[in-house]
Amino acid sequence: MAEAIVIGAGLAGCEAAMVLSKLGIRVILIEMKPDRRSPAHKADTFGELVCSNSLKSDDEGTAAGILKREMRLLGSAVMESADQTKLPAGNALAVDRTKFSEKLTELIKAQKNIHIEHAEATEIPASEHVIVATGPLTDGALALHIEKIAGRSLSFFDAASPIVSTESIDYEHAFLQGRYGQDDDYLNCPLSKEEYQQFFEAITVAERAPQHDFDARFFESCMPIEAIAARGFKTPLFGPMSPKGITDPKTGRRPFAVVQLRRENKEATMWNLVGFQTNLKFGEQKRVFGLIPALKNAEYLRYGVMHRNSYLPAGTLDDTLAVRQMPSVRFAGQITGVEGYMESAAMGLCAGLFTAAEILHKPLPALTPDTAMGALLHYVGSYEGKDFQPMNMNFGLLPPLEEPPRNKSLRHQMMAERAKQKFEQALKESGLRLEGGQLLWN
Ligand SMILES: Cc1cc2nc3c(=O)[nH]c(=O)nc-3n(C[C@H](O)[C@H](O)[C@H](O)COP(=O)(O)OP(=O)(O)OC[C@H]3O[C@@H](n4cnc5c(N)ncnc54)[C@H](O)[C@@H]3O)c2cc1C
Repeated sequence: MAEAIVIGAGLAGCEAAMVLSKLGIRVILIEMKPDRRSPAHKADTFGELVCSNSLKSDDEGTAAGILKREMRLLGSAVMESADQTKLPAGNALAVDRTKFSEKLTELIKAQKNIHIEHAEATEIPASEHVIVATGPLTDGALALHIEKIAGRSLSFFDAASPIVSTESIDYEHAFLQGRYGQDDDYLNCPLSKEEYQQFFEAITVAERAPQHDFDARFFESCMPIEAIAARGFKTPLFGPMSPKGITDPKTGRRPFAVVQLRRENKEATMWNLVGFQTNLKFGEQKRVFGLIPALKNAEYLRYGVMHRNSYLPAGTLDDTLAVRQMPSVRFAGQITGVEGYMESAAMGLCAGLFTAAEILHKPLPALTPDTAMGALLHYVGSYEGKDFQPMNMNFGLLPPLEEPPRNKSLRHQMMAERAKQKFEQALKESGLRLEGGQLLWN
């Protein structure tokens, strides 16, 4: 019987192991708990949700919903566990974290093809088919070993700025300009003295997200905007809100304060708030950053987050999550450069599926970038920018429509429909189907 090794029984590792097992492949699943735990992991069960219990929207018209739909079509064990342990939360899918993880563990343990080994992997085993899914807190000997394979250190990211959608920016209050007129690479959002005063007062008292102990030592090099503001009224004006070298074309003068946005992708569908890494609660980010006139109605494609987060440098993996220099090894989960529970799990499903396709000599399903999974794979495998950072699923990752309607919800509906058709077509063409919870390959 063909065999694959999966390291890490988190969300991604469980998905990878399950899909391989369901397709008749023997899996050795290596998990270091309970002997050793990361600072965020507390339970003995698999697929632990280390923080929030929300898996985001389950509405198929949202980007998060499209991804869930695709995962269900592949018989996702994470979705099955979530559906069976969900809590009332409107359109969002929230779960009882303990029950969710117990359910997932039960599903894994019921698979006769999966053999669990409780041990810390200190290197990637020499084997024909390996999937590494050790998560964003991967450390120690294994992290060093991975760095050798990647040829560079694991990008280490402790804080991310929010990302907003292009269409939600108020261009009446924004203008393109580089500092000292060097280029047009930045979208500047000016604030008057009164607007800045209001913003400053709000940010200094805004509510922060709970902080894990192990995060604190990483803050100094990448300080959150609220911590900068806490140092004094003028401190942000000498930092991320400096108006130096900027002239507002409307007034011909230097604004009192400026927030600069930087393109997050080539298509300029997403903009990153430069230097605005933050640990504020998501609702507070919307409220406080909404005091910046250009961002009054901003749609957040990704909120700012702060936690330790090791991930592979851009270019390490190809679009099938295989290491370019070592194709027998795939990575899965957050360590690949995606962000979020579902995104991590989805990359586990993909890694499992692609590995199974190779073992069974089946065609790899062509998950094109207009599907949610394809968009994430494309982001990880073909990133062309200069600042590769973990990304959650959002509409900005999907290619624009050829003839996009002006109405945003219609546009999103059409993108969701396109994703649905393309995903189903990809499964059909590769001969994959789900029957009574069983994944079958023609
Ligand atoms: C502190 C923190 C909070 C987060 N909060 C959220 C949130 O609220 N919402 C959200 O959507 N995302 C959140 N994330 C991001 C991300 O979604 C989660 O980290 C997610 O669990 C990643 O899934 P994964 O399968 O890639 O890794 P993990 O779920 O971390 O699983 C990795 C598994 O591998 C095991 N392992 C690690 N090293 C080894 C080794 N050497 N040998 C054997 N086993 C090993 C671990 O014990 C673990 O079971 C958070 C991340 C962190 C770090």
